[in-house]
Amino acid sequence: MAVTLETPLTRVLGPKTASSMAEQLSLHTVRDLLRHYPRRYASRGEMARLDDLEKGDRVTILAQVKSVNTRRMRQRHGTITEVTVGDGAGSMTLVFFNHRHAHLRQGAWGLFAGTVGSYQGKLQFTHPDCHLLDGDNGDDDWARALVPIYPASKDVSSWVIQKSLKLLLGPQGNLAGLVEDPLPEEMRTRHGILPLAAALLDIHRPTTMADVERAAHRLKWDEALTLQLTLAARRRAAALEPGTARPRRAGGLLDAVDAALPFALTEGQRAVGEELAAELDRDQPMHRLLQGEVGSGKTVVALRAMAQVVDAGGQAALLAPTEVLAAQHARGIRELLGPLGRAGELDGDPAGTRVTLLTGSLKAAAKREARAEVAEGRAGIVVGTHALLQEGVEFADLGLVVVDEQHRFGVEQRDALRAKGNRPPHVLVMTATPIPRTVAMTVYGDLEISTLRQLPSGRGGVSSSVVPVTEKRAWLDRAWERLREEVAAGRQAYVVCPRIGDSPSDAAGADDEPEDADGAPDDGPRGDRRPPLAVLDIAELLRGGPLAGLRLDVLHGRLTPEEKDARMRAFAAREIDVLVATTVVEVGVDVPNATVMVVMDADRFGVSQLHQLRGRVARGQHPGLCLLVTDASTSSSTGQRLAAVAATSDGFELARLDLETRREGDILGAAQSGRRSGVRMLSLLEDEELIATARAEATALLENERGLADHPGLATEVARLATDERAEWLEKA
Ligand code: ADP
Ligand code: MG
Repeated sequence: MAVTLETPLTRVLGPKTASSMAEQLSLHTVRDLLRHYPRRYASRGEMARLDDLEKGDRVTILAQVKSVNTRRMRQRHGTITEVTVGDGAGSMTLVFFNHRHAHLRQGAWGLFAGTVGSYQGKLQFTHPDCHLLDGDNGDDDWARALVPIYPASKDVSSWVIQKSLKLLLGPQGNLAGLVEDPLPEEMRTRHGILPLAAALLDIHRPTTMADVERAAHRLKWDEALTLQLTLAARRRAAALEPGTARPRRAGGLLDAVDAALPFALTEGQRAVGEELAAELDRDQPMHRLLQGEVGSGKTVVALRAMAQVVDAGGQAALLAPTEVLAAQHARGIRELLGPLGRAGELDGDPAGTRVTLLTGSLKAAAKREARAEVAEGRAGIVVGTHALLQEGVEFADLGLVVVDEQHRFGVEQRDALRAKGNRPPHVLVMTATPIPRTVAMTVYGDLEISTLRQLPSGRGGVSSSVVPVTEKRAWLDRAWERLREEVAAGRQAYVVCPRIGDSPSDAAGADDEPEDADGAPDDGPRGDRRPPLAVLDIAELLRGGPLAGLRLDVLHGRLTPEEKDARMRAFAAREIDVLVATTVVEVGVDVPNATVMVVMDADRFGVSQLHQLRGRVARGQHPGLCLLVTDASTSSSTGQRLAAVAATSDGFELARLDLETRREGDILGAAQSGRRSGVRMLSLLEDEELIATARAEATALLENERGLADHPGLATEVARLATDERAEWLEKA
């Protein structure tokens, strides 16, 4: 039987192994197995980081048996065997009940896999999977210096995978006949990259770490190039799409907006504005990302673009991540437009348009009316949450979609959008989380990018400090005093907590929190931390203590949209001094009189989130203060992360820090991570240069008349990525 990459594993492996691999690891074909790369390589002498293990970790360690001790149990029937294993750096105990492990002899080296538990304060594995490496079981891999450790599952251990691959590759590692290299040889030579067969062999059976590195480099190339080819193809297709030009018209809404603005545009706002105006005037749809520091004034840039489209007879939709933000946008735009935003009403200006707020929580009748305004084209500006897209709202003539404050607005969402009009609308995505270059080249690789670096002048700036309560108890009291001083001076404050409180199921994700709250780095399943501080508890505490006498209210996702909106309004109108809230205020909320932001349990938030939160203060002329309150010690990695946030207000630097502390899958989003985008090995943090090179190669390849016609291998890879994507997209829909 000739084995190919498409051969199902059921034909080459035992039925049980094959079916477990399929069910638990989604490995179905020979190709899948070959592309299931080791997570790391254990080596004798590596000492397996035993010291770093923590309770609850599921790990495989390479260690040597130090002692074996079997005794009868006192309380119960039977025996207990304790095996101490170590790697020089540390040791731990393996525990077996009523088990004979004759092969676990002193001096033997083995791989031990299990969940780390503890007993009387010492770490141990109970009934781990054991796989002895030396001598008598004929395991020649042990002769090699490196043992690959694979991502494993319940019934498919790392060594089952290793054995299966060995079966497949044969003793000589014969891959040349099996895999064809999609990369053109000329390109391989130019960049000095290994042939695919050699790379696959080396990744699974390396002799040295240098082998691994070269192999990984090659495999990353495949991923980067395929992804970039897909994106380049999208850019090309988009450039050919027919759109509708929305030229600028004098004497319309845009001029009215400009006349009504209470400030002069910054240079950056003006420049980006020109860029957008020109692009809207083309009959190809714009696909642009506007990134700008928190508070750099993106809204007004978007509003001017929307006004241009309305002036040209089209409609513009503004999508926000939360209802609070959507309501704020609608309110702000209405205020600015005055009678020009109330066309059709008694006091409206018939030359103007309507600003319609369309959110999921509108009452049925109001929603019907809003939908009708949108469908009949009476509403020139439609403001809603991202759900607007999913709810099948009909537009009369959608000309521009602006997506606000969303750093995870993937390719699929953009596709869904383009399908909205009879011709694809212009699209502007705005994000306040500056995007590291690699992310820009991947997640947003099909968009052009504009950047607003400058903040409007006259801003007081925010100074940030960490308040480590376990070390400096008094600092917290001082924090509340500072807050009171600001309120006494006429300013306002936010106090943010990670949780709502008063309910068993109130992980702050209740409905109106931004869907993509990027979360603090995982604290794992250890569960020995106290629950996060809650809005309702902290509000009570402050009312009765340090902030007694101030006008204090709460804002969180369990309030009804009307309540939320009412409280935001009251806060904006200075009827509330202190708003105790969840991350519902994270993005976009704009109350220029607020100057203090106290973040409780700051360590529970991600870097970008903290930067966003801090961006809520000092939006007017008064300087702001941001206090990051935490239990974490200043010397811990968490404490240092917070110190880094306090030390810089440069969003780009923080974006990089964020990339380092978050799992990449979170950043790429479900839509782009893992299997779906074919990205397994490529790292957004480390492979910037490679991604840039691959992007240039991909663009060049597609600029050629013949496209991929001369590179069938690459064409196949790109097609495979596309079908994988589509298949999973359909499954989700
Ligand atoms: P972001 O870019 O974070 O979305 P906003 O668009 O909400 O920022 O703007 C932040 C604040 O700055 C708002 O109150 C807005 O009215 C104000 N603003 C915007 N542009 C300017 C400007 N050129 N001069 C002064 N204030 C401005
Ligand atoms: Mg904003």
